[in-house]
Parts: sequence; structure tokens; C-alpha cells
Amino acid sequence: MSPRRPTPDAAVVTGKVTQLSPLVRRITCPNPSVFTGPGTNTYLIGGPASSHVVVLDPGPDDAGHIKAVAKAGPASAIKTIVVTHTHPDHAPGVAPLKDVTGAEVIGYDSRDALTTDVDARDGYVVEHGDFTLRAVHTPGHASNHLCWFLEDENLLFSGDHVMAGSTVVISPPDGDMQRYLDSLERVLAMNVAAIAPAHGPLLRNPDAVLSGYIAHRIERERLVATALHSRGTAVIKDLVTDVYTDVPEDRYPIAQFSLWAHLLKLRSDGLAKTRKPDDITATWSATRQLRRRQK
Ligand SMILES: [Zn+2]
Repeated sequence: MSPRRPTPDAAVVTGKVTQLSPLVRRITCPNPSVFTGPGTNTYLIGGPASSHVVVLDPGPDDAGHIKAVAKAGPASAIKTIVVTHTHPDHAPGVAPLKDVTGAEVIGYDSRDALTTDVDARDGYVVEHGDFTLRAVHTPGHASNHLCWFLEDENLLFSGDHVMAGSTVVISPPDGDMQRYLDSLERVLAMNVAAIAPAHGPLLRNPDAVLSGYIAHRIERERLVATALHSRGTAVIKDLVTDVYTDVPEDRYPIAQFSLWAHLLKLRSDGLAKTRKPDDITATWSATRQLRRRQK
């Protein structure tokens, strides 16, 4: 049997239950921001008449949102809660949703404000009568990040690994650019029909989106290397103005983290050096290898 394809997406509207495919509904929490776009998408997996519904990423601890998710479930059918990672816009809603449903909580590990019942590693499967959901370990944005793959629809819940309309921030030390690129390549090699991100609408062209992400990061790395080479020695605060010329200045404080992640990757590639890799204010310099390469 060929997988059922998700139906076209409607625009993201917070608070409303949107049926995306036979097995998937979305409710977006009203927590819009630079990081979260229109807000955090919470997904309900399982047909509306199913006696076992999985809730993916309950979002922040927002009473109105948790109430809407429990109502849509309905609460009596919500038996499992899974998370993509433990950042504050994804996981704090788990505890209040567990209070009203008694559902089992599954994530990579107990961290930040999340307590798991089951620690899922790569390949872990949540299986029920009408669907199979598989964990795909995708470190990069966070070391405990999982995408979840709905095998019945070839639909990938990407969490913050891929977003629609906002930029994924890679923030060291938990965020890691090399691992992020490896995780993008890994998902690109999968047979994904559509991506349901934690922020923004359904993406129906996953290969183009993933290739675009990889190309964007490689280009950014090239710009970081060029900027470091031409300054010789520099701090991140200065490099950000050279590299992120396409980004409004009020985003620079955020962009500094991704730039730091790029420098750490260049460092492990032998192209950049610093005495204090763990310090965002550290001074960086080009290595001889970078100078040779830039000639
Ligand atoms: Zn997020």
C-alpha cells in the first residue's frame, strides 16, 4: 500500500484545530516570537475516533492551549505525549497535560523542566492499531532533539530541526553545527513526503527545503571563514556585522550564537583557533591552514 499523502495545509491559525491528514491534527499555541514564528505547533496523531492519540510537543505551559489540546484529543484518548526536545516553547506543557490525561511521557531524556517516563533513543517506535511513529535522533539544534517519523504517511515531525519561515538557531555548547549538518543530511536521505515543523505551516517540498538549509549553512560558513581571514583576529561581535549583512541588526545578539557554532566547527576543521572556545566573547584567529586555503 502506498502511503497516504498529507492534504494541502491551511495557514497557521493559533487556537484552531486543523486537520492536516487522515491521522494528523494541529493546534498552534498563541506564543508568537522571533524564535517561534506564529507560535508552537502541537500535533495530535491518531484518527479523531481513535482510542489512542499521541500528542507531540504540548508547547509552553499555557493553560488555554493545554485545555484546547485536551478537548481536541479528547483527554480520555490521549495515552502518549512525545516531545522533540526540552526547550521552553516545547516541553513545559507536558506536565499539565499529563495531569489531565495520565498519558505516558516520551522524550530523549529528562532535562530542563521535563520528566520522561520513557527515554527514547534513535529508532524507538510508538506503535498502535492505526499508526507507527518512529524516533529519529537529530542532534544539532539541541543534543536531545528527536524528529518523529509517521511511517503511515511518510510525514516527518521536525521540531526545531527544520522550521517554516523562521531561522533555526544553533547555540553552543548544547547546539552543534557539525552535528546539525549531519542530521540534515540524514533526514534528506530518508523518504519524507512532507515536514510538519514545530513552527510554521506544513512543508510539502522536504528535499528542496533540506537541501536549501544545507546550502545556506555551507554558504554562511564560507562567509565566516572569509571574514575571519580578512580580519586575522576578531571577536564574534565584530564578525557578526561582516557575516549577517542580510539580517536586521536587532537580530545580531541571536545571530552571534550561530556564528559561534560556525567558528567551533571551523576550529574542529583546523581553520580557526581560540584559547577560550567555551566563551562567546573570546578572541578568534585564522589558522595557517585557513590562510593557505583563502589564497
Ligand atoms: Zn521551538
